[in-house]
Amino acid sequence: MPELPEVETVARGLRRTIVGRKIMSVRLGKTDFIDDPAALEQHLPGRQIEAVERYGKFMLLRLSPVESDGSPAANGDSAPAALLVHLGMTGQIAPNPASQPSEKHTHAFFLLDDNRELRYTDPRRFGRLAYLAAKALAEELQPFGADPLEITVEEFVQQARIRRARIKALLLDQSFLRGVGNIYADESLWRAKIHPARLGATLKKEQAATLHRALQEILKKAIQMRGSSISDFLGADGQPGEYQRHHRAYGREGKPCERCGVVIRRTIVAGRSSYFCPKCQPSPKGCTTLALPARVQAARAASKTAKPQRRKRRSNASRRPKG
Ligand SMILES: [Zn+2]
Repeated sequence: MPELPEVETVARGLRRTIVGRKIMSVRLGKTDFIDDPAALEQHLPGRQIEAVERYGKFMLLRLSPVESDGSPAANGDSAPAALLVHLGMTGQIAPNPASQPSEKHTHAFFLLDDNRELRYTDPRRFGRLAYLAAKALAEELQPFGADPLEITVEEFVQQARIRRARIKALLLDQSFLRGVGNIYADESLWRAKIHPARLGATLKKEQAATLHRALQEILKKAIQMRGSSISDFLGADGQPGEYQRHHRAYGREGKPCERCGVVIRRTIVAGRSSYFCPKCQPSPKGCTTLALPARVQAARAASKTAKPQRRKRRSNASRRPKG
């Protein structure tokens, strides 16, 4: 599922391409992932897209109010409103020339005032579209915690250390931080050298502060690299992300830790696969590390007989040119 950096990548693409455009009409295909399809058809035409915001793991297309001769519109369209776009597992949203044939699994078409169509495509339909105005919008946003890029180190440290929850569960808890998922939680914990099953309450202040810094650095770097494309994530311009090449823990079970060479292992925390280095991120008591899968063990055994496991690092002296 797209996390903060992937959603930010899509939002940036949309900010460049559709802000300021007016929605002329709405056409829907399958609607089982749309909160109230009729509301989209009723309330979107005539509204201008004023801004595209990322909010946690979803986007809000902020819509201009509709004014009928200066007095508030009877149907509530004069209030602030937004189209919520959640990409789910396989959702994509991008503007295309209206004349261009649409991709398979395109379920929502928003005709814009420049003859382009903003199209939402989603083969698995785990995403969500919702028209939200005034109170409904406020209620939708209310349960979410701080943006991980905006939370201060003081607030993060204080919040993390009063919880009895495991730190990985805490990072995934959207009422604490909005937008962090499995990939960036594991990557941040690896960088901060904290085991995912540690209880927040057992972290030292310095450890929690290190985690705050690691999380922000990793999210910023991942945004720069347009997110991670691990299944079929594409930005609004159809380009995949690059950050998956920089993963140090996530999905690397059986591969050597890039810091110490020890094999990355997996455990289950908060019901999710969690990847960690057993040396850099020591396990708390009672946490079970899962056995390496048979195929990983076989591959490791084969590579051990083929070549020495660790090459000796050459000393600086031998690298220096002679004379
Ligand atoms: Zn390590």
